[in-house]
Amino acid sequence: LFAAVEMAPRDPILGLNEAFNAEKNPAKVNLGVGVYFGDDGKIPLLAAVKAAEKARLEAQPPRGYQPIEGTPAYNGAVQNLMFGKDSELLAAGRAVTCQCLGGTGALKVGADYLKRLLPDASVYISDPSWENHRALFEGAGFPVKEYAYYDAATRGVNFAGMKAALAAMPAKSIVVLHACCHNPTGADLTVAQWKEVVAAIKERNLVAFIDMAYQGFADGIKEDAAALDLFAASGLQFFVSSSFSKSFSLYGERVGALTIVTDSKDESARVLSQVKRVIRTNYSNPPTHGGAVVAAVLSSPELRQMWEDELGGMRDRIRAMRTSLVANLKAEGAPNFDFINVQRGMFSYTGLTAAQVEKMRADYGIYAVGTGRICVAALNTKNIGYVAKAIAAVLK
Ligand code: PMP
Repeated sequence: LFAAVEMAPRDPILGLNEAFNAEKNPAKVNLGVGVYFGDDGKIPLLAAVKAAEKARLEAQPPRGYQPIEGTPAYNGAVQNLMFGKDSELLAAGRAVTCQCLGGTGALKVGADYLKRLLPDASVYISDPSWENHRALFEGAGFPVKEYAYYDAATRGVNFAGMKAALAAMPAKSIVVLHACCHNPTGADLTVAQWKEVVAAIKERNLVAFIDMAYQGFADGIKEDAAALDLFAASGLQFFVSSSFSKSFSLYGERVGALTIVTDSKDESARVLSQVKRVIRTNYSNPPTHGGAVVAAVLSSPELRQMWEDELGGMRDRIRAMRTSLVANLKAEGAPNFDFINVQRGMFSYTGLTAAQVEKMRADYGIYAVGTGRICVAALNTKNIGYVAKAIAAVLK
C-alpha cells in the first residue's frame, strides 16, 4: 500500500522552525514564524483569556456536542466584531456565521462550499499570498491563479496592476483578499483603493473571499474592518474567514469563523443549511473551549475592555519594533528601510534576497523566510540590535 509513497516536501515555514530548533548558535533569532511574541520572547497568554478560562474551569460545564455551526453566543460576537453591533446588514439577517477551526478551517469550509456553488470558477490569490491559500483552494478542486499585488520597487502595492488583473477576470471568479496586515508583504490597500476594488468586484460580477486573520493588529478593531464596511455597504454577497489565533493569542485552540453575506434572511437560512452539510461531513461540529473563551470575553464589558487594551498593547509593540528596526538599521549604515514603518501587521517583506537570508542564517543564526519575509512581532528590545547589525552586514 505505501511502498511507492514519496516523501512530501516540508512545509516551508514549519520546516524553518525545525531547523531553528536544531540551531546551535546561542544568539539565534527566529523571524520566520507567524506568531506574536511579547518583549520577553514568549507567546502571551492574555489576562482576559486567563480570566475567562478560570471562570469556565470553575463552572465545570459539561462537554456535549456543539451545534454544527457553533453557538449563537460565539457567532453573534464574531459578527458584531466584524460589522459593528448596529450594522444594517446584521439587522437584516444577511450574514451567516459558523465557528470554524481557525482561519484555515474557515477558508477550507468556505472553499468546499464554493466548489459546490461555482464548480467551474477559478480562484485568484494575491502575488504573493499566504503560502497556504493556493494549496487550500487547489485542495478544494479549484484552479488557482494570481493577481498582481506587491511592487518590489516601492515595497508597497502595485495598485494599477491589481486593478488591471481584476478587470480581466472572468465573471464569477473568486478573489481572495487580505482585509488588513497582508501576509507576507505587510503592504495594505488604502481605504480609497478598497473603494475601487469593491467597485471593480461589483462591475465584473466577481466573488470576494476576504481573509481577516489580523483584525486589530494594524490600526484598531474598527479601523481594520474598513474593507468589510465597504463590502457591507456595497450590497454585494461575499465570504469572510476570520481568526482569533493572533488577536486572542489562542493559536492552538483553533478559533475562527466563516461568515457568508447573502441577499436576505431567507437566503441566509438556505445557505446555512448547505454549509452545515459541508461541516457535518468534515469534522461534524467545532470544539468547545476556544470559542467559549472568546465569546465570554467579547460579551463581558470588563473582559472586553481588558482584551482591547491587551490587543492595543500588541499592536503598539509591533509598531515600536518597526520604528526601532528602521532606526537601528540607519545607525548601522544600511540603505533606507523607511518602508518598514509603512507596512502593517506582523510581517515585513524586507527586500532581502534568498542568498542574503541564507547568509543571515549561516553567519548569525537568524532565521527568516527565503522570500525576505520577517516577522516583526518576533523582534524585541534584546534581539533587535543584533538583527539590525546582521541585516546591515549581509547587505554590504
Ligand atoms: N490567513 C492568513 C493571511 C494568515 O496569515 C493565517 C495565519 N498565519 C491564516 C489565514 C490562518 O489562521 P489560523 O492560524 O487561525 O488558521
